[in-house]
Amino acid sequence: RRFHPHDTQITLPGTDIVIGGKKIVVMAGPCSVESHEQIDTVAGAVHASGAEILRGGTYKPRSSPYSFQGLKDEGVAMLHAARDKYHMPIISEITGADHLPIYERDVDIIQVGARNMQNFELLRALGRSKKPILLKRGFANSIEELLMAAEYIMSEGNEQVMLCERGIRTFETATRNTLDISAVPVLKMHSHLPVIVDPSHAAGAYQLVPALAKAAVAAGADGLIIEVHPNPREALSDGAQSLTPHAFDKLMGELRPIAHAV
Ligand code: PEP
Ligand code: MN
Repeated sequence: RRFHPHDTQITLPGTDIVIGGKKIVVMAGPCSVESHEQIDTVAGAVHASGAEILRGGTYKPRSSPYSFQGLKDEGVAMLHAARDKYHMPIISEITGADHLPIYERDVDIIQVGARNMQNFELLRALGRSKKPILLKRGFANSIEELLMAAEYIMSEGNEQVMLCERGIRTFETATRNTLDISAVPVLKMHSHLPVIVDPSHAAGAYQLVPALAKAAVAAGADGLIIEVHPNPREALSDGAQSLTPHAFDKLMGELRPIAHAV
């Protein structure tokens, strides 16, 4: 911050979407891309509700190797088809530097998941890319470690980095993770990078997502990343925390006056 008093703004090529500007940017979509129909339905719905960026995981870093691992490159292609149909940039998680060529070609924002926040080789490789990076805070990492992970990317030349608070592990078990809302103003104080909040992975329960999303915007976040599934009960990952398109639409309406006021 000392060397960079102005906030970084990230403009997505070919669009008028600016992350870190005046407007709150909402990224929404399923935890995992599951089929053409599923991603098409979610994309159409979240687009109509005002989300500007479509999310979807295809390389899934699941806690168990026996859980659904994602559709991999086939899923990236499905996401890309929805991108073209709805004119929405896409964000997807990368789990290894060897996947970079396909992400460079097809994905607009590359997500680094909580589990890879300190995968320094991956961070360095992404630092040599020209794509914007959304860097998630590890659930057992401090704010300083998050900032240093961002430095790994930027020190290789890529300064288009967004920081993402997605909840941390605490003694509290009522939520999947504890959303560290303080991280938003702390990051804003120490860093010029845009701050995005993921209320879905913090909450672990769809009922809590709207309140956390609104708190994040009120606290000064530049954007949100939210999981939405057309049929959360049937989701292959993170159904419990996924909003239905209807609930997402309602939340977008509730966010507008808060975003306007801050
Ligand atoms: C995800 O975005 O689906 C995900 C796996 O998130 P995190 O890395 O925050 O757990
Ligand atoms: Mn998820």
